[in-house]
Amino acid sequence: MTNPKTKFIFITGGVVSSLGKGLASASIAATLQGRGFKVRLRKLDPYLNVDPGTMSPYQHGEVYVTDDGTEADLDLGHYERFSGVAATKDDSITTGKIYQRVIEKERHGEYLGATIQVVPHVTNEIKNFIISNLTDEDFVLCEIGGTVGDIEGQPYLEAIRQVAYDLGRDRVMFVHLTLLPFIPTAGELKTKPTQHSVKKLQEYGIQPDMLLCRSQMPIPENEKRKLALFCNVKEENVITALDVSNIYLVPLAYSQEGMDAAVCRHFGISTDEPSDLSKWQRIIDTIKAPEGEVTIAVVGKYTKLLEAYKSLHEAIKHGGIANRYQVKIKWIDSEKLENEPAGDYLNDVNAIIVPGGFGQRGTQGKIEAIKYARENKIPFLGICFGMQMAVIETMRNVCNVKNANTTEFDPKCEPIVGLMTEWDKDGNKEIRTQDGDLGGTMRLGAYPCRLTTNSKVREIYGTGEISERHRHRYEVNMKYEDTLNKGGMIISGKSPDGKLPEIVERPEHPWFIGVQFHPELKSRPFAPHPLFVSLIKAAIDNSRLV
Ligand code: GLN
Repeated sequence: MTNPKTKFIFITGGVVSSLGKGLASASIAATLQGRGFKVRLRKLDPYLNVDPGTMSPYQHGEVYVTDDGTEADLDLGHYERFSGVAATKDDSITTGKIYQRVIEKERHGEYLGATIQVVPHVTNEIKNFIISNLTDEDFVLCEIGGTVGDIEGQPYLEAIRQVAYDLGRDRVMFVHLTLLPFIPTAGELKTKPTQHSVKKLQEYGIQPDMLLCRSQMPIPENEKRKLALFCNVKEENVITALDVSNIYLVPLAYSQEGMDAAVCRHFGISTDEPSDLSKWQRIIDTIKAPEGEVTIAVVGKYTKLLEAYKSLHEAIKHGGIANRYQVKIKWIDSEKLENEPAGDYLNDVNAIIVPGGFGQRGTQGKIEAIKYARENKIPFLGICFGMQMAVIETMRNVCNVKNANTTEFDPKCEPIVGLMTEWDKDGNKEIRTQDGDLGGTMRLGAYPCRLTTNSKVREIYGTGEISERHRHRYEVNMKYEDTLNKGGMIISGKSPDGKLPEIVERPEHPWFIGVQFHPELKSRPFAPHPLFVSLIKAAIDNSRLV
């Protein structure tokens, strides 16, 4: 049973993909929060993978990890950044997961001999996901992945139609995000693709209540009227979703076009008071009037698809906002540093980040970047794989252990970084083997970490115990701690049982930190992550030296 006061908003997309449904959903949530409502955001992905964890970042962008260890679509990152509400396993589903549940039930005989079908068994499982595990939310916003008309999206559309039928239209709103392309030869914005896409939705029994129309220019009133008439949507609910230069402008921009007012009217909520978006305004003011600019190099493997580093990109921006500085990111393909001197690429940057990654390609280039940062005293942050490489760099180049490496791709090396075979999770032992399943089996989600007194990280965090999110299979081997210390690197953060190294730093360097976790996943525009705030500050100090 859902709480009778909880209302559901379903966001679908039409015409083309990549219109920013995730941002639109997150922005609706933010504007409703500005009206004092409690929100929850959920994502339903029609693809067959159980989760995006085993997909290449080139396929699906970054894999976002929640506190409870769910590997989820990167839109959950937008949700968390915009709403500040931490997502859980109950907020992300895929067709793979739905079928897994249905088939498990079938094997257990739970369907009592019935023939298992897409309708009702798959659709019921989707409906359960939508309405389950809620408390006292005012609004639950569910984004349906893909584009209306996709074959794999059909069960989702049927399920949300049924939710509206079950709960009543006064508790459900359908928002459809579309594109009005501008055709230069005609000099016009075109509404026809939107009309077709709405017709398609209507075929599934869904009448959208609001159209959010992505457009590169304001939509003329007569075009809005046309859309309203042909799509059967109230004219004031045809909302212009103009292109904006920065994603944090979206909530204010869409709100000014009447987006959240339309939501309120739909549910019979008074719109006398506008949404309080002053905190967004403050962010925008800072973005628009920075005091200076610094350049941060990100030396990684997926630099051709920046979606692969979505949270990192945002966390860097947040660090900039906190320092009132604009941050320019120089994306560098690490393979480039394998054939050319690192300085050719890095001599004009104020800080260097080596982010997370998997596999061998480009590794040597990352090590070159780290060596350059260490030797030239450039602020450096290594994240996950970047931290592991920073340890290997010190081992090879300072401690003279020439075959120092990770067993991830060199089983015969001096195993500075090795497969994690067992660790503690909430008092229970997690055990893994070399040939186990790849999906969902990494060390995932939030783990506590103790910080060493007098360390730089202790000072940056301002506390002795932190919790950060993980996604890795390998770890630095603690038995090399003494050797590392001799090489000028200390382990300044460890798991509470002292068995797993979580943070390394170089006390003699102005700012050199490697973390086994992903701090970027917890950074918010309103609560920038302390490591990124401090790194950008160090980059600013560094820029003044140059
Ligand atoms: N490939 C490394 C591991 O599995 C690092 C993973 C990461 O950077 N997220 O430990």
